[in-house]
Amino acid sequence: MPNDLSPSACSAAPILKERGQHEVFCGLTSIIWLHRKMQDAFFLVVGSRTCAHLLQSAAGVMIFAEPRFATAILEETDLAGMADAHQELERVVSDLLSRRPDIKRLFLVGSCPSEVIKIDLATMAKKLSKKYHPAVNVVNFSGSGIETTFTQGEDACLEAVIRDLPNDDKTQLAVLGALPDVVQDQMLRLLTDMGIDDVLVLPQQTAGIPSGVGKNTHFICAQPFLGAAYDEMVRRGANAIHAPFPFGANGTTEWLAAIAKRFGIDQNKFDAATSGPKARAERAIAKVSETLTGRSIFFFPDSQLEVPLARFLSDECGMKLTEVGSPYIHRALVGEDLKLIEHNAVISEGQDVEKQLDRVTACNPDLTVCGLGLANPLEAQGLSTKWAIELVFSPIHFYEQAADLAGLFARPIVRSDLLKVGSAI
Ligand code: SF4
Repeated sequence: MPNDLSPSACSAAPILKERGQHEVFCGLTSIIWLHRKMQDAFFLVVGSRTCAHLLQSAAGVMIFAEPRFATAILEETDLAGMADAHQELERVVSDLLSRRPDIKRLFLVGSCPSEVIKIDLATMAKKLSKKYHPAVNVVNFSGSGIETTFTQGEDACLEAVIRDLPNDDKTQLAVLGALPDVVQDQMLRLLTDMGIDDVLVLPQQTAGIPSGVGKNTHFICAQPFLGAAYDEMVRRGANAIHAPFPFGANGTTEWLAAIAKRFGIDQNKFDAATSGPKARAERAIAKVSETLTGRSIFFFPDSQLEVPLARFLSDECGMKLTEVGSPYIHRALVGEDLKLIEHNAVISEGQDVEKQLDRVTACNPDLTVCGLGLANPLEAQGLSTKWAIELVFSPIHFYEQAADLAGLFARPIVRSDLLKVGSAI
């Protein structure tokens, strides 16, 4: 049965802003999915042995594949003299590019150690780009844990990609955010069925895809953690399309409808493209929702997917929201989802983990979405948990994935129900 909610701890409130200890991976983690998406790119982390270990353990099985990321480990001796560090980095890049002619885009990724922060990676990237032009384009971004949480690595990378794009004044739709290939294909099919063929997806799969942005580019984000990339598009004169994110049947329909409206798509054509897959998604969600309806959920801040996912779970699966925490709330990006949930839950931005642990104990939700580090202690306390990072690695967007998305939340609840039944026998 659903747990009772404590009204004092879980009532609707304005956004609670917190600054304290937080428990999230750094932006280097994004490289794990970005390197699969950008087939001719290489990510060279300028960092320490800790960064190299993080990448290796996060990459898991990918380590056996031909790698498209590495860490230029700067030893303390390199870091003692900055001139040496710059030369050392140039040497590493030269070795890499002579061994790997398939690399067309090289990302220099900054990290945390104070000595690394002192290296001017932006100037290095410009210098190297000039040196290797036109064979290789070199850009830089930061994946440092001081500046980024794990999904912000993609945001920083995409911001750098957009900054580097030429100007193009043709009328086009741009979709921002790395999606699994199969999901991206589904999205493009839906848009084609609506009559929109000229779609620029960023980041581009290869450097050879003609890409430019300008004042006639209309863009929409497919991921809610792209605040810096969004701002960069606006600076480039592009026009934002606002909508709830494409999670679930309603979210996907609203997202597509916002694009249709901007491009003047005829309602009949829109309905013909969306009504079949929408109805299928609704039926599939309804089945999984039997487990979710009436159950309560609490989100720790982690991936920045929290606000749109909370909207999907409450609006389409009947879940009760307690607290929805997000590392950052970019209103221009998640505003459409936020307004659908802000009166039903405590919304918190940032983190003070000790205080939040007290609140989750007071709420005693049926399901808690959190980072890996918090899951075990919370499970030991008797709470069911879901790892936030799994949501980033799973295909969860658009109609075809809607029931799978609901299933990701239903599984831990089913498991916990079975354990309770087992222990009662
Ligand atoms: Fe650790 Fe910083 Fe390297 Fe990330 S960037 S692995 S937080 S040292």
